[in-house]
Amino acid sequence: MRKYDSVNNKLVQVVCNSCGKTINVNNEVMLEEVLHVEKHWGFFSNQDGEAQKFDLCEKCYKKIISGFLIPVEKDELIELI
Ligand SMILES: [Zn+2]
Repeated sequence: MRKYDSVNNKLVQVVCNSCGKTINVNNEVMLEEVLHVEKHWGFFSNQDGEAQKFDLCEKCYKKIISGFLIPVEKDELIELI
């Protein structure tokens, strides 16, 4: 869940939707990585026309993917400086 300043619309707070952990934000930059999901459900779902979004901290993300039958695919990223 993300909160924005009502005056300037800047990101001020991120909270993990699963465990409630607050992710520190400094000048709109999150100081920890999160998984942010936005899903606009369409015609072939039971939630047609609904937009949903949430954030998960890394710990909750790992807990969820550990239950996957098929593990997530991993690639090594080359860091560009
Ligand atoms: Zn969490």
